[in-house]
Amino acid sequence: MVATIIDGKKIADSIEEEIIEETKELIEKHGVTPGLAVILVGSDPGSQIYVNIKRKACSRVTFHFEDYLLPDTVEEKDLINLIKRLNEDDKIHGILVQLPLPKHLDENNVISAISPEKDVDGLHPVSAGKLLLKQEGFVANTPAGILEMLRRSNIDVKGKDVVIVNRSKIVGRPLMVLLINNDATVTVCHTKTRDLKAHMRSADILVVAVGKPNFVTEDMVKEGAIVIDVGINRVEGKLCGDVDFEKVKEKASYITPVPGGVGPLTVVMLMKNVLHAARRSLKK
Ligand code: NAP
Repeated sequence: MVATIIDGKKIADSIEEEIIEETKELIEKHGVTPGLAVILVGSDPGSQIYVNIKRKACSRVTFHFEDYLLPDTVEEKDLINLIKRLNEDDKIHGILVQLPLPKHLDENNVISAISPEKDVDGLHPVSAGKLLLKQEGFVANTPAGILEMLRRSNIDVKGKDVVIVNRSKIVGRPLMVLLINNDATVTVCHTKTRDLKAHMRSADILVVAVGKPNFVTEDMVKEGAIVIDVGINRVEGKLCGDVDFEKVKEKASYITPVPGGVGPLTVVMLMKNVLHAARRSLKK
């Protein structure tokens, strides 16, 4: 079997078109332009790239964008004061703090300072709790993007055995809940999992986000499985995922590439959340 390659870029582009249309309507009918504020602490080059990707996406979908670049010596109270100010700013509908933060800052305190109505990254305890309780709220962008990508590829997760190799709060945990909410049967694996390979081989849908190139080889994948590669690694200057793509694609039924797979979906789901936040602000 040779896998169908899921074109994440193409799917993200079509969602972007929808967002542009809806934004036009929001501006014309209500005079509201969705606005995103991104806060970056420190000068990590990887984080700077991610902020730029978000800036460009906002420009494509005609959103208002503000970035706040703070030194890595910033005090927690000053960062939280900035967030509180943005919570009150009517031009800003979504606030995102680029992670990871320098060690002296408590990530939980910082994320909790964001107003739940502006938590477009979906990492606030209120958003996480709503997801767990299957209530409407902001969902973390990468898990939401994976579900949307599967939906738009006509892959129904209902009743499927899904194995996730990752238990982080931005990928594995919210994805686990989202999948359960959509009637999948979910196994979550991590570094303490016994016989990881047996779990992976049992998956109808295998989602991997470990951050190690060629972590998934063809012997770890069931014939006909759907393989979602979330990992982002750089090898000799080139981007790659966690999956040995060339070999695994001969065995899977669907596979996502890196780059051009989950990444573009993550960005566009952030845009979708900002648009939702702007729409909800009308009801206030
Ligand atoms: P993380 O917090 O470091 O999580 C990595 C996870 O992989 C952990 O749960 C870890 O288990 C597990 N793991 C690592 N080595 C393993 C092994 N040998 N066997 C089994 N499990 C193992 O990282 P993250 O922030 O979730 O990101 C993970 C990867 O996804 C990175 O490459 C990141 O760049 C990428 N990513 C991509 C996107 C996108 O949009 N495409 C978005 C987010 C992240 P423990 O919990 O036991 O340590």
